[in-house]
Amino acid sequence: MNTGSAKIMGIHHVTAIAGDPQRNVDFYAGTLGLRMVKKTVNFDDPETYHLYYGDGAGTPGTIMTFFPWGDARKGRIGAGQLVTTSFSIPADSLGYWTERLVEAGVRFEKPRDRFGETVLTFSDPDGLRVELVAAQDGREGTADGTMPAGDSVRGFHHVTLAVEDADRTAGLMTETLGFRQTEEAEGRTRFAAGDGGPGDLVDISGAAGFPRGTMGVGAVHHVAFRVPDDEAQLAMREEVAALGYDVTPVLDRNYFRSIYFREPGGVLFEIATDPPGFAVDEPQDELGTHLKLPPWLETRRERLEEVLPPLHLPTATAETTGGNE
Ligand code: ZN
Repeated sequence: MNTGSAKIMGIHHVTAIAGDPQRNVDFYAGTLGLRMVKKTVNFDDPETYHLYYGDGAGTPGTIMTFFPWGDARKGRIGAGQLVTTSFSIPADSLGYWTERLVEAGVRFEKPRDRFGETVLTFSDPDGLRVELVAAQDGREGTADGTMPAGDSVRGFHHVTLAVEDADRTAGLMTETLGFRQTEEAEGRTRFAAGDGGPGDLVDISGAAGFPRGTMGVGAVHHVAFRVPDDEAQLAMREEVAALGYDVTPVLDRNYFRSIYFREPGGVLFEIATDPPGFAVDEPQDELGTHLKLPPWLETRRERLEEVLPPLHLPTATAETTGGNE
């Protein structure tokens, strides 16, 4: 039982390490048809990008973000990590996606059933494990021009954590973060927050004896969970700190406010507020089209625009008949 007052509403975003930024754009905005909702820099390392993809509005629960670190060391997927990021597609769009992935040259595993839904598993160009889950999902599609909105990714479906001691991670999630266990099969236990729909789900997979993952290109850096406001975030911070976790102070991420701590299995958890959202510094219909910097980095804009490689969104690339390379 959740003894505290604050509860997680679902997944807010997932952040991973990528290699080449343009290749990352081509895959997530191109092949997967997500919208780039923010092009900014890594606030802790401003000479590198922080790219955000999501639905048309940048709704929490749809946000996949990357730190593209060029030729940084490759990570290894393993225990103590978020090992698979699963997106939700409409149940009747499975045929469309199978064809789209084949055309894009993405090799996927034989479709499998998981808790009554069909799952396509593949890797992104950096080796990150990604899935599409054909699901009943009431969320709107992404009308970004590279694919029919009706078939588009709706946002996250679930994420899978691989941890050595599944019970300890599960304990934190159910006793403190407000998740409840909903399903269990084949070494996988599903937990739901909020309404329990796609985007609110976390699977824990027991990984006792498996090699630990290492951070690097192609690995997930952290998962962020949603709280409605600052008050809920502070309440949860207090509860997590009272349990002895080393939790950061509230950090201003410009589009949300964040706290971070490592759960017992080693996965970095973030708790992020829904507000203010991605339209705080550019109009919704222009999301992702400008390099946006937080106020404290604006003085460095000229230098940053010089060192950051130019990025082409897939629609723009398609219109450029001569190509960019
Ligand atoms: Zn984050």
